[in-house]
Amino acid sequence: MAQAQAHAQPTDHRCHDYRLLVKRWKAFCRGAKLKLQPFACSAEEHIYYLETGREHAAQGQPWIYVSAGVHGDEAAPPWGLLEWAEAHVDLLQRHPFLIFPVLNPTGLILNTRVDYAGMDLNRNFNHPSEPVVVAWRKVIEGRKLALGICLHEDYDGQGCYLYELNGGKHVLGQRILADTSAIIPKDHRRRIDGRAAKAGLIRRKVIPEMAGQPEAIVLHLQGAPITLTFESPSEFSITERIAVQKRFIESSLKHALGLP
Ligand SMILES: [Zn+2]
Repeated sequence: MAQAQAHAQPTDHRCHDYRLLVKRWKAFCRGAKLKLQPFACSAEEHIYYLETGREHAAQGQPWIYVSAGVHGDEAAPPWGLLEWAEAHVDLLQRHPFLIFPVLNPTGLILNTRVDYAGMDLNRNFNHPSEPVVVAWRKVIEGRKLALGICLHEDYDGQGCYLYELNGGKHVLGQRILADTSAIIPKDHRRRIDGRAAKAGLIRRKVIPEMAGQPEAIVLHLQGAPITLTFESPSEFSITERIAVQKRFIESSLKHALGLP
């Protein structure tokens, strides 16, 4: 259910303000009786996650995983995720969600893809000893996953596109991209990031060979039946990018899990 938006959207110059974002998440969590928990640090900054609907997970409902801010030069996803959460408190309370609002806070602050130490987190989710990854794995291990949503942006993007890793028969991507294209059109390039794409959709049925694995693949290996990695074009306006990220989460939950 939609709640009235109590906050203005961040202007361009504040969208890399990690502490403002955390303040907004904490205020939201206080109001919704949810708890934002630190689980790791990057330099001076805490990295948080949010767990909701634990009692529903105890009754067998699998977890819905959503993360943002793996790459710090992709500013819209963390704000889109926050705005989605603010608008869907009762969905969060009725289902088990595992949310990582910003996985690379120092990158967000520095406006860099990598973290303060130069690490690209999305090529290291299978790293055996990287502290953030080890702590992240501890949070997710042993949980049955229903869906993994990974939110990104691309400065080469000419519109929105989506990686769908889905072993099932029913492809979701085109329905989701139809919803998001009401805000930002699809990226119609035939090759995106070296892979064949069709109207913004890059499908994967099998896992590509990669030494340093991205988040979506590690989630897939953890048993997530579907992982969706969404990319909005980071040269478009921040307001539209935040709106399209929020719409993407709503649309993914609708088409993958039938949630309103
Ligand atoms: Zn990215």
